[in-house]
Amino acid sequence: MILDIMRGRGADTPRPLRRLVEGASVKRKPTPEARFWAKVARGSETECWPWTASTAGGGYGQFGLRAGSCIPAHRFAWVATHGPILDGLWVLHRCDNRPCCNPAHLFIGTRQDNMDDMVAKRRHWAHRGLPGNLGEQNGRAKLTAEQVREIRKRHADGESQSSIARDYPVGRIKVGQIVRGEAWRHLLA
Ligand SMILES: [Zn+2]
Repeated sequence: MILDIMRGRGADTPRPLRRLVEGASVKRKPTPEARFWAKVARGSETECWPWTASTAGGGYGQFGLRAGSCIPAHRFAWVATHGPILDGLWVLHRCDNRPCCNPAHLFIGTRQDNMDDMVAKRRHWAHRGLPGNLGEQNGRAKLTAEQVREIRKRHADGESQSSIARDYPVGRIKVGQIVRGEAWRHLLA
């Protein structure tokens, strides 16, 4: 329906006429909505419906609306369900799962809402001790903040990176990243 409107061929065009215009022998192209939902793993209302095709940086789904024109998949999911959105407004995830296209998990907000939402979620993780993205909050971290401070102190006092690495469950390369501030940068404040 959206594509029909964009082509300037209203959805109210009588069906037989449309068939005549496009030619009965030509197979009708699937609508953008049909193409879109075919790439979404739909489940129950409470489940996340992940996008199964290509994603962009950051993990958001990418839907090719027309040749050369992609839009974020979750944005299309919202528009296909609720209708057009004003420019400048964002479609945000309640579930914090970027590939998710379940309209029940999406809401409209401003850029500021998006940033507030991110801050609130990060605070929530930090409070609950669930894996976030920073240092120890990262579930894969092998070091504690305390050890990182020790490593930096020992290096500042002149000890070599490989000598320091012997005392910790990380290699010399990681120690190098830590002392140069490429890893655990947030502790340098
Ligand atoms: Zn979801």
